[in-house]
Amino acid sequence: MSKQILILPGDGIGPEIMAEAVKVLELANDKYQLGFELSHDLIGGSAIDQHGVPLADETLARARAADAVLLGAVGGPKWDKLDRSIRPEKGLLKIRSELKLFANLRPAILYPQLAEASTLKPEVVSGLDILIVRELTGGIYFGAPRGIRTLDNGEREGYNTLPYSESEIRRIARAGFDMARLRSKKLCSVDKANVLEASQLWREVVEEVAKDYPDVELSHMYVDNAAMQLVKAPKQFDVIVTENMFGDILSDQASMLTGSIGMLPSASLDINNKGMYEPCHGSAPDIAGQGIANPLATILSVSMMLRYSFNLTAAADAIEKAVSLVLDQGLRTGDIWSAGNAKVGTQEMGDAVVAALRNL
Ligand code: NAD
Repeated sequence: MSKQILILPGDGIGPEIMAEAVKVLELANDKYQLGFELSHDLIGGSAIDQHGVPLADETLARARAADAVLLGAVGGPKWDKLDRSIRPEKGLLKIRSELKLFANLRPAILYPQLAEASTLKPEVVSGLDILIVRELTGGIYFGAPRGIRTLDNGEREGYNTLPYSESEIRRIARAGFDMARLRSKKLCSVDKANVLEASQLWREVVEEVAKDYPDVELSHMYVDNAAMQLVKAPKQFDVIVTENMFGDILSDQASMLTGSIGMLPSASLDINNKGMYEPCHGSAPDIAGQGIANPLATILSVSMMLRYSFNLTAAADAIEKAVSLVLDQGLRTGDIWSAGNAKVGTQEMGDAVVAALRNL
């Protein structure tokens, strides 16, 4: 039976980078006879323009029916003045929570060919390979009550709530331990247990789950220290598990260790490993329409999709190999360019990956 992939390019550079990822996916589909059927739909600002909402009910239904979703990026200045309830980012939060995609995997890998692109010294980052497991459907981004209210003295006050239930903590902790087991068996749980009650419970529950994983070495770190350590000595980490907002910030920071957010894919999985796959970066309105965005994060998201949702290890490895070969050839988009390499655009980069994959 064919497997359904829903493609949601989104806004800004989303359609540009997605066009390249789809070329790679279609080639892999033919070459390895994967039996995928692709369909396209709208999300974010483009969906607002068409339907008045950032995620139409029909689109959500198609996402539910699909075996996996591949997403570009959403948002842009055109929609920034809209009411918060229908902004593009709401579509993204909604699809993540409706599909119950609670585990967000964000690898930060430094390709040896790009050691120069990092702002940190090569000896600090060379060989870096971190996986951040971020809780994605709970915490302060979803907690209620929330809002902006006017106090008795007439001053306005913004407020949010940071709730985490035991079951939410337990399932993301398990995802973290499972990933650690597949790698170097080291897990660092990041929290703010010295200040936040939600973090105190987080730490207690992670300790409980650890009893089922005696082969994994667990450590705890406060988020402020983790931010420091990621810059000072990032190679001390292997798998990091953390809550939604801390993971959002730390994974962007980790991405910069690798030179460019344009290189980093991500996976968001439900309890059955059904997933949505997307680059870590946003819609980059500053470079949209110029044909210069780096498509590799989206192409590597295709590889993660094959690996985590479909267990197609050989095809996933081949796409990663093709990306590495293209970097060996010295091809670089502007965000990862350094002297001595050839600067290429989005489409040329995609074509080069397709050619490398075809020849493997
Ligand atoms: P961004 O990630 O879009 O851009 C940050 C910087 O990185 C920009 O200078 C951009 O040019 C560069 N960049 C990002 N992706 C790149 C790529 N593939 N190749 C080359 N350079 C790249 O973050 P931002 O500027 O804070 O946000 C822009 C818009 O994207 C906002 O509307 C924001 O809400 C939205 N956003 C969406 C997502 C998502 O869809 N998952 C994530 C973050 C931000």
